[in-house]
Amino acid sequence: MLKIGHEVVRPGKRFGEPEVSIPIPEELATVPGVPINQREVDWYSREYPLESMNITERASRDWANTLRDQHVEMREIRKEHEKLNRPLIMAARASSELEPTAEPTGEDVTELIKTRARELGFVEVGITYFDPRYSYMSKKNQSNYYEHFIALAFEQDFEPTQTIPSVDAEIVHSSTYRTEGAAALELGNYIRSLGYHAQVSGSGDAVGPYIPLHVNAGVGQQGACGYLLTPHVGSRCRLVSITTDANVSYDKPVDYGIHAFCQVCQVCVNRCPGRALMRDKIWWRGVEKNKLYFKRCRPVMARYLGCGICMKVCPIQKYGLKATMDHYAATGQVLGKGTHDLEGYELEGKGYFGPGELPVFESDFFSSMPHGNEYEWAFEQFKDKARAAGGEITDDLIEDFRAQMASNLSNETTDQLVMMDQDADYI
Ligand code: SF4
Ligand code: SF4
Repeated sequence: MLKIGHEVVRPGKRFGEPEVSIPIPEELATVPGVPINQREVDWYSREYPLESMNITERASRDWANTLRDQHVEMREIRKEHEKLNRPLIMAARASSELEPTAEPTGEDVTELIKTRARELGFVEVGITYFDPRYSYMSKKNQSNYYEHFIALAFEQDFEPTQTIPSVDAEIVHSSTYRTEGAAALELGNYIRSLGYHAQVSGSGDAVGPYIPLHVNAGVGQQGACGYLLTPHVGSRCRLVSITTDANVSYDKPVDYGIHAFCQVCQVCVNRCPGRALMRDKIWWRGVEKNKLYFKRCRPVMARYLGCGICMKVCPIQKYGLKATMDHYAATGQVLGKGTHDLEGYELEGKGYFGPGELPVFESDFFSSMPHGNEYEWAFEQFKDKARAAGGEITDDLIEDFRAQMASNLSNETTDQLVMMDQDADYI
C-alpha cells in the first residue's frame, strides 16, 4: 500500500449525493493545478496572444468538415447540430447585454450559484477570476465579459462514449454541448435574478481556452491527452463558462495527482492512432504539460468519426478518479491498463485494435492536410500551381486565386457552428 500524501474532498457526483474523499498517494503529489511560470504566461499573452484554431487553422477545419461530410450519418449529425445549436449560441452572445432582473442583497452568492448549477445538472462547478491572458484576439472586441469566471463541466453519457469512435459517440458529443448550453443560459438567468450580470459563453463559441481557467477554479487538472480531467468523469465532459460581476468567492487550484499520474499511466499516449500525444512534458506558453501534436491529431479525427480514442481509453474517464487512485494506492498499478475493455477500439474500415496494436496509415495520410488559415492556404495553392506551370502566372491562375479569395471572404469566419472538443485549441 502506497503512502497517502493528501486527500481531496469533492461534492458527490450528482446533486445531493454525499461528498467523496479521494486519496492521493504521496509519490503523485506535485503542485495544485499546473506548474506555471507567470512571467512566461505574461510574455506569451502579450507578444503572441491566443487565437482560436478555428481561425488560425481554418483551412484544415474546412478540409476536415469536407471529409466528415462524405460520411452520410456524420453529415446529418453536423447539419442537425448546427441547426439546433445556432439559437443557443446567439442567445449566449446576447447574454452580456442583459440587465439584472432584481436588486442585489450584497450577500456572497457563491453557494447559491453553485447549488443552482448542480441542480441544472453540471457535474463540476468552480469559480475563479477571469484572466484576460486566456482570451482570443478575435473575441477581445466582441465580448463584454465580467471579472469573475464560473467554470462549468457537464457529463457526457457513459455508454455511447465507450463506443468511441462511433456515430453514437458523435451524437452524444454534440447533444451534450447543446444540453449544457441550454443549462448555462438558465444559470445566467438565475444570476440575473440575484441582481447581477452574467455573460454566457456559448458551447463551441468560447472567449478563450477553457482549460487554464477551469484548472484555476479547481475543477480538474489537464491530462496527457490534452483534456481537462475532472474527478468524477475524467475527460468525459464538456466545458462551458459564465463570467459575472456577482459577489462571489474564489476556489483554488487542486492537486488531484493527475499531473504525475499521467506520466505513470500513458495509456492514451500509447493508444493514440495518430501518435499525436507526447510521452514527456514540455514547457509551453508558461506551463508544463504534455503537448498535443495537432497536425497528427486532426487527420485522424477528420477521417475516423471524430476519433476521441484518448478520451475512451482513459481510466479516469471510465472508472473515475477515486477508483483509479484507490487502485493505484493499493497496487501501484493503473486500473484497467492492458485490458481490451479499456484499451481496445475499432476504426471503421480498419478493424479492431487491442492493447499494443496500432493502425498503420499511408504516407500522405498526415501530409495531405492543409495548414494555416483559408487565405494562407489559398496562397500556398496558388504558389504550387505557379511552380507546376514553370513559374508562369497565367490569367487563369490569377482568376482561380481571385475566385478562391472571394469565396473565403464571403464565408463566416467565426467558430460559432463548429463542434469543438473540450480542448480544441490545444493550448
Ligand atoms: S483524438 Fe485520436 S488522434 Fe487525436 S490525440 Fe486523441 S486519440 Fe490521438
Ligand atoms: S489515459 Fe492515463 S495518461 Fe492519458 S490522460 Fe488518462 S490518466 Fe492521463
